[in-house]
Amino acid sequence: GYAVVTLMQWITCAEEQFQSHLAELNALDAAIGDGDHGSNLARGFAKIREKLQANPPETPASLFKLVGMTLISTVGGASGPLYGSFFLEAGKIAGEQRELDDATLARCLQAGLTGIQRLGKAEAGDKTMIDALEPAIHALTNKAEMGVAAQKAREGRDATIPLIARKGRASYLGERAIGHADPGATSASLLLDCLASACL
Ligand code: ADP
Ligand code: MG
Ligand code: MG
Repeated sequence: GYAVVTLMQWITCAEEQFQSHLAELNALDAAIGDGDHGSNLARGFAKIREKLQANPPETPASLFKLVGMTLISTVGGASGPLYGSFFLEAGKIAGEQRELDDATLARCLQAGLTGIQRLGKAEAGDKTMIDALEPAIHALTNKAEMGVAAQKAREGRDATIPLIARKGRASYLGERAIGHADPGATSASLLLDCLASACL
């Protein structure tokens, strides 16, 4: 099962990855948006680390709630509320359990994905984070294979390169978005890599 310590490793890994890919994520966003995606996530996850150190959560639900609330309150960009609702919705499914089994974790992630889609109204193929998250989370729902899910996320991210964006700032660019990977799909792929390395 997945105890809160394991899930905290997921979040700590994400903080490290967003920090070390800050410039790369900003550069991807500079090509088709406003250049702040790496800075947005690095700021949000640095604040999360501070709060986790000050007040370690005791259950997966309280961890997910802390992550979601912090992203919503500290990340100004579109990605803050979107990733924020991912974690808030995941937290609602986690309930009071101290350890999540494979099926419950998969349901948490599925609820998170649904939360992002309820808020952002993006579908697969719109050149957003959904293109990485949806195939990955569907792979997990079928069977708890974190490595396969991370691979699906990477493929979904790569598949955004030839697309025109239909949501977010990149949608203003029309055909000029073609040839660039979506920054949010790239950060989502990093998030799934971290889930795999924390939970394998
Ligand atoms: P902003 O665009 O406000 O500067 P960020 O740069 O942090 O915010 O995040 C941009 C990313 O957010 C995009 O690359 C895309 O993946 C994601 N995104 C934007 N709008 C949506 C949406 N409606 N649904 C899903 N994801 C979205
Ligand atoms: Mg941006
Ligand atoms: Mg911005």
